[in-house]
Amino acid sequence: MQENKLLLIPGPTPVVERVLGALAKPTVSHISPEIEKELSGAVENMKKIVFTHEGQPLIVAGAGTLAMEIALLNITADSDRVLIVSQGYFGARMAEIAEAFDIKHSLLQSHWGKVVTREELAAELKKHKYDIVVCTHVDTATGAGAPIKEYAETIKEVAPEALFVVDGVCATGGIPEKMDEWGIDVILTAAQKCLGAPPGLAIDVFSPRAINKRRKLARVKAYYADLLRWLPVMENPNRYFSTPCVNEIRAFYEATRIVLEEGLENRFDRHERFASAIRSGLSSLGFSVYTDETCLSSTLSVIRYPNGLNDVSFRQKLYENGVVVAGGLGPTSGQVFRFGHMGNITREQIIFAFDAIEKSLFSLGYEFSLGDGVETVRSLLIK
Ligand code: PMP
Repeated sequence: MQENKLLLIPGPTPVVERVLGALAKPTVSHISPEIEKELSGAVENMKKIVFTHEGQPLIVAGAGTLAMEIALLNITADSDRVLIVSQGYFGARMAEIAEAFDIKHSLLQSHWGKVVTREELAAELKKHKYDIVVCTHVDTATGAGAPIKEYAETIKEVAPEALFVVDGVCATGGIPEKMDEWGIDVILTAAQKCLGAPPGLAIDVFSPRAINKRRKLARVKAYYADLLRWLPVMENPNRYFSTPCVNEIRAFYEATRIVLEEGLENRFDRHERFASAIRSGLSSLGFSVYTDETCLSSTLSVIRYPNGLNDVSFRQKLYENGVVVAGGLGPTSGQVFRFGHMGNITREQIIFAFDAIEKSLFSLGYEFSLGDGVETVRSLLIK
């Protein structure tokens, strides 16, 4: 039973009462005044969250992986070549999607735990012509955060015709993504991470340039995922294309209101403060950070075990003490755990987590100085 455990995996993140309350509101007609207000509200709020005036959000039932498909399928012509800039797991997934739909693509891959540099991106763009560049903002397997603004500048300099797509599933609403100012053409994301809503929605925000590209394509390899079928609904939610998940939309609207009530700058700042306190607390207990220090993301920490600590036993004990964290993915499996600290988590929850970590270490017979972790986070997160 995970019901009363504190969920500190890198998504889904804990969902606060206000959002759960909205999810439990009556299931109304998808073309009712309630949904008209709440879907339009969510669309407007998403624009604010990614700093766009002209971009058009698309919010549909699905998950981050559908948002990845929607982004690629709606802007790729048969003759196009896509460059996938990857830090690891989710870049590789983007390549699998491209393969599944016979989209011509190349992979520019960093070492795990690092990111592709601006110079490496520029060199690749000079070597070959690309019509689309896709990158993961934060790779949830490695904790590495890509320099999106620098990538956007590089693309503008070297390949200004190319459309720039950012996978913000582990970033949007927790780390800045300034769509208009930086020149991003599609930001794709999902409800369940930094935005603090339950899983169930795929979100893509398209720039006018990206929408024009879709309009120029005679056909795309998508039906449900076709932007042009959804645009009228997003512009006017009392139109029908396919029944939207009304309860999830009600919850998502509330979640976006919470994000904006906190204020985006405050929220980004809180993610930074929490991340650095958590890493200090863990290092005071003998853990270390897996990710290269030049590209640490504030939304999660990928943490190496000290010698003598077993991954499965540690996470099991932690679970018994009330906290769920995630194991490593791919080559890091068994060597690290992943601590998600994005969304609406609180100082009190972090202190609770450190208390649980210390209890777990103690019962596993690991030698450490009792209280150091809790004290470190407590002192760094003074209200
Ligand atoms: N991209 C990134 C960066 C992710 O972290 C994830 C999910 N962890 C996905 C895409 C896929 O999202 P979903 O699991 O919602 O399909």
